[in-house]
Amino acid sequence: MVQSFNFDAIKLFYKALLHPDLLKPTLVVKNFKHLDCKALNEKFGTEYLVFDLDNCLSKPYQNALWPEFEEAWTLCKKRYGKANMLILSNSAGTADDKEHAKAKIAEDNFGVKVLKHSNWKKPSPEARSAILDHFGLKETEARKVAVVGDRVLTDVLLANNSGFVSVLTRVPIDTVSDNIPARLVRSLEHVYIDYKYPKP
Ligand SMILES: [Mg+2]
Repeated sequence: MVQSFNFDAIKLFYKALLHPDLLKPTLVVKNFKHLDCKALNEKFGTEYLVFDLDNCLSKPYQNALWPEFEEAWTLCKKRYGKANMLILSNSAGTADDKEHAKAKIAEDNFGVKVLKHSNWKKPSPEARSAILDHFGLKETEARKVAVVGDRVLTDVLLANNSGFVSVLTRVPIDTVSDNIPARLVRSLEHVYIDYKYPKP
């Protein structure tokens, strides 16, 4: 599987070099199963959740919930409600996803909406307004949103640059089927995170 080049990630990477806190996750968990959605709601005031798909909820390009996460996903939906949850992927729902076929499969499998975005990718600043618009939130309500994902330079950077809460799922589901650039960059992200912040 091939994803088109992500120029927004490169541009924001340079911004993060000047402002390293943009790469610091609000919360780090081993994987989605270890995310306490109730605590996220109560401790951080989070009312809306945006999920990465590949290697966060799903094995890459499978567009289906990883079986071990069934209970956690059910608890999360019960706590937040499906309408307050959204999947934002850099594969499903993008211009790389022909006729958004993968996004439709994911919506059927997960029971929540997949944000369609053809002209940008995470961590583009355009994602911020698209997410706020989707949930009907004002600019001042950004802190009610948390982004949950396995990538520092896309998911965490998007969240921190947008004023959202950022949750890093530290251990990917399956790196073998991931694309090689993503695998390589994630390894570098982990070196950085492990150096700067303690492991969960
Ligand atoms: Mg991912």
